[in-house]
Amino acid sequence: MMTFRCEKCNFCFESVGEREEYISPTYGPCFKYVARCPACDNICNEHRINLKKSDKGSCGCSNCSCGS
Ligand SMILES: [Zn+2]
Repeated sequence: MMTFRCEKCNFCFESVGEREEYISPTYGPCFKYVARCPACDNICNEHRINLKKSDKGSCGCSNCSCGS
């Protein structure tokens, strides 16, 4: 299971996700995991907590223990 965060309604949820492949102009063929928000049906990216140190604790989500 992975954690996803909806940017639309700020809802965090866990899902197995779906692998989505795409071509990056910089890195070539890549893939990421996406999942559909159970609250609003928006396609969400994986919620990476430690992506940048400055982002740590900035989730603002009340639904998970993101470290905020
Ligand atoms: Zn949502």
